[in-house]
Amino acid sequence: MSKLRVRFAPSPTGYLHIGGARTALFNYLLAKQQDGVFVLRIEDTDVARSTQESVDAILDAMEWLGLSCDEGPIYQSDRFDIYQQKVQQLLDEGKAYRCYCSADELNAKRELAMKEGRKPKYDGTCRGRTDHPDLPHVVRFKLQDGRDEITFDDQIKGTISFRQEELDDLIIQRTDGTPTYNFVVVIDDAEMNISLVIRGDDHINNTPRQILLYEALGYPVPQFAHVPMILGADKKRLSKRHGATSVMAYQEMGYLPEAMVNYLVRLGWSLGDEEIFSMNDLIDKFALGNVGRSAGVFNPEKLLWLNSHYIKTGDPQRLAKLLQPFLEHKGIEPTKGPDLVAIVKSLQERSATLVEMADDAEFYFYEQVAYDEKAQTKFLKAEQKELLCLLYEQLSNCENFTEPQLEHVFNAIMDKTELKFGKIAQPLRVALTGGTASPGIYEVLQVLGKETSLKRIAQALENIV
Ligand code: GLU
Repeated sequence: MSKLRVRFAPSPTGYLHIGGARTALFNYLLAKQQDGVFVLRIEDTDVARSTQESVDAILDAMEWLGLSCDEGPIYQSDRFDIYQQKVQQLLDEGKAYRCYCSADELNAKRELAMKEGRKPKYDGTCRGRTDHPDLPHVVRFKLQDGRDEITFDDQIKGTISFRQEELDDLIIQRTDGTPTYNFVVVIDDAEMNISLVIRGDDHINNTPRQILLYEALGYPVPQFAHVPMILGADKKRLSKRHGATSVMAYQEMGYLPEAMVNYLVRLGWSLGDEEIFSMNDLIDKFALGNVGRSAGVFNPEKLLWLNSHYIKTGDPQRLAKLLQPFLEHKGIEPTKGPDLVAIVKSLQERSATLVEMADDAEFYFYEQVAYDEKAQTKFLKAEQKELLCLLYEQLSNCENFTEPQLEHVFNAIMDKTELKFGKIAQPLRVALTGGTASPGIYEVLQVLGKETSLKRIAQALENIV
């Protein structure tokens, strides 16, 4: 069997959205699994709507997700010559013709058809024209008479048939000479030897037209797999109303790429009731046969749950690197505080995103502790002065803040004061962090270190009147 060749073919008219990323991921996974080739093709024939900014945004998002291509990016805008040549080939072979109908004429006919309850289709006025005056025109692909049905076996949706009578003579070249999507996609997929086309099912209606073009151009027809779309919780097509739809918006919100990859693949694909899949698991286990035929529903809570899972189980060194820009964004200089890896370790259980982690880490970097007002009123009162003095004294005597040593300090204070652990930990927590919620008190002491911890207790004491 020949090598699997797949492609992702985004139009650079905006950012990479969730649906596009999932299509790219499915292509990538199959290529890796079958030792095939993943081609990235930028479909920028619509010059007016395509921008370099979008190309960059799409490439960045793919890189972030780890979806590296084996060939490309190939730009359609570099390939106008070959498209032109193929238009000419079809014209020469009588499989295409120039159409001089004006937009006004076509609109009038369309309106009439709608009024009479007919499906608007081009009526073939210019089909038989043999002259070709030097006037504005489009080029249309001529449907061959005598074909009833166009059928293909979709690897996700099963056998799909269209009646040729539902189609009309497709425009393959616009008045300005630029070729159209359905035409160039066929040439490119064929010339790039794509063996399996995986794309969104919004393209299903284009497939019969494309199959006829493959045949007319003398190309073998590839396999197709149309991936169902993604809906919002209200079962409407996923849009901004449902939350961010740009992949990179999730990076900015502090999501990890492995959480996004895991989430995307599960939007439509399943394997029993397993939820957690690394990229390597997916390369091993992904199969188009397990992609559902109906739409996936976008569930931000599940994405968040996956993200907190990957933060909990992630490598602290790597998370520390990823956290840095989020700290900087808050005006924190990551090197001007305790060891960042230690900070991360103390927060992995608590923070569901890197944005949350940066917020939760803020207290570690205080020059002066900023107290939460309620916490201060409740826990830094005159009656806690003695306790905090005791803590200061005992902790000063601690050589270093190992867990047994800290335990020893707390036990000694509990004995002496007859206070429960919590009654000691909470005022100390407010002194060290400014608030009442933080990682475990020993962990906070250890991460801050002896010097800073003592400084903060002293500051708290100064604040008690
Ligand atoms: N450029 C098309 C799109 O972004 C891709 C179509 C295809 O995959 O065939 O929708």
